[in-house]
This record gives sequence, structure tokens and C-alpha cells, in this order.
Amino acid sequence: MKTLKELSDELKRNNIRLTHQRLKVLEYLSNSKTHPTVEEIYSALKKEVPSLSKTTIYNTLNYLSELNLIKALTIDENEAHFDADTHTHGHFKCSACGKIYDFDINIDSFDTEHLNNFEINEKIVYFKGICPRCLSNINIE
Ligand SMILES: [Zn+2]
Ligand SMILES: [Zn+2]
Repeated sequence: MKTLKELSDELKRNNIRLTHQRLKVLEYLSNSKTHPTVEEIYSALKKEVPSLSKTTIYNTLNYLSELNLIKALTIDENEAHFDADTHTHGHFKCSACGKIYDFDINIDSFDTEHLNNFEINEKIVYFKGICPRCLSNINIE
């Protein structure tokens, strides 16, 4: 868990200043492992930060992505999910429960010989399938 104080100190060291609202969004995302959507962030924070609007969350998430503090995931075709874990890792989406799981990968082990003359700006790994929990539910039925 990262506290608001720890986050804002970390940001200050990088000369980034966020408003309280924006800081709350980053705090929520930093302590969340579920890759929440705008809607989920909004319903989680609206009690604690009543002045927060979905537009503010949207703008904040865009801003935080630009600063590379968070990543937007496009694994779900219906809505964007957000991740405060910016180190390279793969994502697995369960098509039964919709949950998005993290997994470690060695991205440099991919054979990309055919891209030798290309400039690569982004490497994204998305897997889709059924998670163990849903698989066991299917087997019980
Ligand atoms: Zn599942
Ligand atoms: Zn992730």
C-alpha cells in the first residue's frame, strides 16, 4: 500500500505536482490490482471525494499516462482499463469473468528479427482465455 504522502513525495522528487483530486485517483490506482475502469474508479472514490466527476477522472488518467505514471490497457474492446504498475508485464483477460490478470514475461526473449530495422516504441502482450477459477466452475456444472 502506498499512502497519499508517499505518492506525493515521490512525485515532488520528479517535480510533478498534482491536485488533491488527481492524487486521489493515482492513490486508488496504485493500491489496486484489478486494473479498474473509469466507472470503477468513479464509484470507488465518489463517497470520499464528492467533487470528483467522471470527466476529471478521465482527464487525470490521460495526464497520468502522459507522465508515464500509469498505463492504459486496451485488452478489453468495450472499455479502457488502467494500471499503475508500469513495469513490463503481460495481461491475461478471462473471457468468462472479465478479470484481468498480471503475469511476468521476459519481453526480450521474443524473436523479433524481422523488425531489426524498425523503431519499436511499445511492446504489449495480451493473452485471452479462461482463468482457473472459471475453469473449475465450468467443470463442477
Ligand atoms: Zn475467470
Ligand atoms: Zn497489470
